[in-house]
Amino acid sequence: MEGKYNLKSPAVKRLMKEAAELRDPTEHYHAQPLEDNLFEWHFSVRGPPDSDFDGGVYHGRIVLPPEYPMKPPSIILLTPNGRFEVGKKICLSISGHHPETWQPSWSIRTALIAIIGFMPTKGEGAIGSLDYTPEERRALAKKSQDFCCETCGCSMRSALLTLTPNSNPSAEDHQAKRLAQQINFKAESSSSRHASESRGAESESSTSSQGDASTSAEQEAADEPRTEQVEASPSAAEEDRPLPPAAPSTGRPLSPRQRRAQQQNQQGQRDGREPASRPAFAPAPRQQQDESHTGSAVLIVLLTLALAALIFRRIYLAQEYKFDFEL
Ligand SMILES: [Zn+2]
Repeated sequence: MEGKYNLKSPAVKRLMKEAAELRDPTEHYHAQPLEDNLFEWHFSVRGPPDSDFDGGVYHGRIVLPPEYPMKPPSIILLTPNGRFEVGKKICLSISGHHPETWQPSWSIRTALIAIIGFMPTKGEGAIGSLDYTPEERRALAKKSQDFCCETCGCSMRSALLTLTPNSNPSAEDHQAKRLAQQINFKAESSSSRHASESRGAESESSTSSQGDASTSAEQEAADEPRTEQVEASPSAAEEDRPLPPAAPSTGRPLSPRQRRAQQQNQQGQRDGREPASRPAFAPAPRQQQDESHTGSAVLIVLLTLALAALIFRRIYLAQEYKFDFEL
């Protein structure tokens, strides 16, 4: 598979890493890319204990966008389960229907745990949701063990490690439920009580992020040291960097060729920086709720405008010098 993909692409690098991390099935979930497509994965998850899905193992597809992890994966269940419609993209806030609430620090593992935690929650008419009776769900759970995937050849009886008395499902289950609560809230942020509950916490973090963008990037890195820290540190310093390249020209007017070279140089630096800065920079505005999202966006637009104004002024001054000289 390695020869087929551009190994410099952030999505490919990230997916290869996640595939290695998820290579061995656990007792609760397993996911791997298809042999011929790194951007389509098949997964199996165990139904949460103490629910109507207890004893069920459910299979499905995960389709990754080329922009992953900046954009969320789409999740499609293949096993009838009575909670999610088969063959339809699931309406979780972390699935393709709500791209605005996906966080790049989340992973395929996060999505799998969220699905498990989300199964016992109420469908409430959301897209792709089903509200089958407990009896129907239990019957489907039993039947799910017979499912064999024609595409990846996975059999549900052997897809996951067998639960043993030593295994500790409650820790996984607890984690899954906590994540599902967070995700549930994000999906309903416009209406329900969860929105008002969260408002206090969100406004605290939004004030700090509006005050100083680089601080919020550092907080982001502190929250998720595993994936983002390496990329976050260059981006924090980057805020000041666009200005210095223009500075050397202040003393004397540049010839057109020098100016062109300088512009190309700046352009090149900008292009070169982009892949590194994008993963670290975007999470900051996305992580916050609407108000701070707008605040960060305005800040970025203002910084961009200021930089553009400086560059144009530089060009204008240089041209003026040249004009005077020729007269
Ligand atoms: Zn499969």
